Amino acid sequence: MDSQQEYVLRTVEERDIHFIRLWFTDVLGMLKSVAIAPAELESAFEEGIGFDGSAIEGLTRISEDDMIVRPDASTFEPLPWDDEGSARMFCDVLTPEGKPSMGDPRYILKRNLAKAREKGFTFYLHPEIEFYLFKQQQDYSQPPVPIDQGGYFDDVPLGAGMDFRKASITMLEQMGITVEYSHHESGPGQQEIDLRYADALSTADNIMTFRTIVKEIGQERGLLASFMPKPLADEPGSGMHTHMSLFYGDNNAFYEPGEEFNMSKTARQFAAGILDHAVEISAVTNQFVNSYKRLWGGSEAPSYVCWGHNNRSALLRIPQYKPGKGDSARMEYRALDPVANPYIAFSLLLAAGLDGIDRELELDEPTSDDVWDLTNAERRAMGIKPLPASLDSALSYLENSEFVAQNLGEDVFSYFVSNKRQEWADYSHQVTAYEMQHFLRRL
Ligand code: GLN
Ligand code: MG
Ligand code: MG
Ligand code: MG
Repeated sequence: MDSQQEYVLRTVEERDIHFIRLWFTDVLGMLKSVAIAPAELESAFEEGIGFDGSAIEGLTRISEDDMIVRPDASTFEPLPWDDEGSARMFCDVLTPEGKPSMGDPRYILKRNLAKAREKGFTFYLHPEIEFYLFKQQQDYSQPPVPIDQGGYFDDVPLGAGMDFRKASITMLEQMGITVEYSHHESGPGQQEIDLRYADALSTADNIMTFRTIVKEIGQERGLLASFMPKPLADEPGSGMHTHMSLFYGDNNAFYEPGEEFNMSKTARQFAAGILDHAVEISAVTNQFVNSYKRLWGGSEAPSYVCWGHNNRSALLRIPQYKPGKGDSARMEYRALDPVANPYIAFSLLLAAGLDGIDRELELDEPTSDDVWDLTNAERRAMGIKPLPASLDSALSYLENSEFVAQNLGEDVFSYFVSNKRQEWADYSHQVTAYEMQHFLRRL
């Protein structure tokens, strides 16, 4: 056992922890958990705990259904919402032979991060996570009712939203996750909480913890907290703008004083790679049928592939790098939504940026116009392509992407495609309320 594992054993005893929850995710980014007793910890660290992988979305083919989870001691944290004494650790998923599972999203991210490390790079992320707070409801076919009528930055008097944010932030901080900003977002009942930047693996883990905490507090307070990308047709959707930076040793590799906008060649190539691959990675950054209603529903969600400095209609926003502020040089990817699987979405964003560096791609001019106001012909003339308009279209691009297949690995790639094709088939099979209202009598 190493010193981190010994620390976990000691803490479990000192703090009288009875349940240790082992966390991992399926391919869609849904949290999975198995609880073990403290007496099992030592063998969990050494050999792992067996489970039936065939029951987990995308984890295994039928032939290798006995899988193993082995906890990562560096992620040990007591769970503040459980008075009975519980803690969690994120796990690596292993095959029966003890090899990393190719269906484990966390491993896929680790593998992509290792490629960056070989080039001397560390990838840092800072997500802005939006979600809605609704009143509890029984009938989900009805539109949800927001808990307040506040708007952007509103300080809602006696607001349950502010109270909710405070409770979430307290819990996040208790679990070692630092929050930078939080505020009421534009939609009624809509909230935003921004996590402090951290390396990509910690950020992905933090997002999993974040979603769990927000759901947990919602339940505690009799509210429905939802990360659904577009829950209300006429209000803004919920996104997860993600600020990315690349460090080379101690230096921010995006910053180069004296260059145009103080932006390094690495930054320009990274950005060009992101824009080059944006369309084919959409099905991963925006993985649900509903995600496309946000992307094409206005309210500052991006619909076109372009970049700008202070352009909130752009997919990629690169704030101008200020002299002396090199450390904070970053770019903001605005398509992501908060229900993406963060491990595989971050894998593809990183791979896209690195591919731009490898291929020495040139970055086009920034767009200063509001791209929604341009005509199709103007956008075409400027070389601005749309993002896919539906999950169906996004999947058509993804299915043909050698880039995605390579960076996710064939296992996750083929599982993801078949799962999402099924979602699209189920969805388009419906005869909707819209069709009944508009067509039944008239046609
Ligand atoms: N809610 C918007 C989106 O879906 C973002 C609004 C904002 O933070 N400017 O991306
Ligand atoms: Mg924000
Ligand atoms: Mg926001
Ligand atoms: Mg933002």
